[in-house]
Amino acid sequence: MSVLDSKIPEGPLKDKWTNHKNKIDLVNPANKRKIDIIVVGTGLAGGSAAASLAEMGYNVKSFCYQDSPRRAHSIAAQGGINAAKNYQNDGDSVYRLFYDTVKGGDYRSREANVHRLAEVSGNIIDQCVAQGVPFGRDYGGLLDNRSFGGVLVSRTFYAKGQTGQQLLLGAYSALNRQIAKGKVTMYNRHEMVELVKVNGKARGIIARNLETGELERHSAHAVVIASGGYGNVFFLSTNAMGSNATAAWKIHKKGAHFANPCYTQIHPTCIPRSGEHQSKLTLMSESLRNDGRIWVPKNMEDVLAIREGKLKPTDLSEDQRDYYLERRYPAFGNLV
Ligand SMILES: Cc1cc2nc3c(=O)[nH]c(=O)nc-3n(C[C@H](O)[C@H](O)[C@H](O)COP(=O)(O)OP(=O)(O)OC[C@H]3O[C@@H](n4cnc5c(N)ncnc54)[C@H](O)[C@@H]3O)c2cc1C
Repeated sequence: MSVLDSKIPEGPLKDKWTNHKNKIDLVNPANKRKIDIIVVGTGLAGGSAAASLAEMGYNVKSFCYQDSPRRAHSIAAQGGINAAKNYQNDGDSVYRLFYDTVKGGDYRSREANVHRLAEVSGNIIDQCVAQGVPFGRDYGGLLDNRSFGGVLVSRTFYAKGQTGQQLLLGAYSALNRQIAKGKVTMYNRHEMVELVKVNGKARGIIARNLETGELERHSAHAVVIASGGYGNVFFLSTNAMGSNATAAWKIHKKGAHFANPCYTQIHPTCIPRSGEHQSKLTLMSESLRNDGRIWVPKNMEDVLAIREGKLKPTDLSEDQRDYYLERRYPAFGNLV
């Protein structure tokens, strides 16, 4: 049986990554240009990794199976991105974002990594704004936040109901800048079909050119896999059929661990399926999340009458409705 070594740095939880970053071996700027890195995926993870690595001086080869990096499935994300900036003065902090994220991850996430996410969350927003991502703003022009994700603070930065699309356009602009500078070579319509290992280390990939059908070999000093989610384990999900985990499966077969397969994001508020032709579910607007109220009829007779079509839910008066989330969880109410 293999033993998982997640290589989380030593030290107290909140200092682990800071200590690691302070002590990690650095690469001389003149040497960076001698190092090649393959990045599979051009979504928010891969697109920004490729752009950042190239900006730092490495030579990057970037792969996606779509006809443009812009079509990665990150484009579907609607609601927003969390950051512990405490702009709303509602008591937010790095610790609270860390705590809420660990809780939201059902206490299964790697806590040190979540802490790092919370630490860098503010910088990510600054960088996105600098890259031109049009986050929602209040009347005075300052960045706005929405209440999102079932927490007691408003820390979500958003761009209407298209945050993923706008963020991806930001990452894509940064990527394009590096493509134009010759630091990133872009391979659209290329599907990674195999990982190449040399002496136990990932040193390349085999990719199929989806236009010609040819198999190609690509080598590098390191390979980053940022190939997205594993949504299609269910019949229909909000992931496109293309989000089929082929790259993740290939690297798993070569020794990478595949953790928490039960962890598939579910969007309960989807437009109902309209027929056999439909390959994915479409999310209702997330811009209204956490507004509105949720109730069920208080009396069983009303439930039965609604089921039989003899009564409309809208005919029930306030005192016939049970706002059960607000009743059972008064602090969180509908945020539950
Ligand atoms: C409808 C919806 C709403 C969401 N809303 C939110 C939200 O409000 N807030 C939030 O934080 N998150 C949200 N999410 C989740 C979030 O969008 C995703 O977790 C995130 O965007 C995934 O980014 P990624 O870069 O890992 O993957 P993706 O964007 O899926 O990119 C995967 C990339 O890998 C490439 N690829 C895959 N396999 C191969 C292969 N074999 N060879 C070559 N290339 C390959 C693809 O071409 C693509 O470029 C939402 C998700 C969905 C579906």
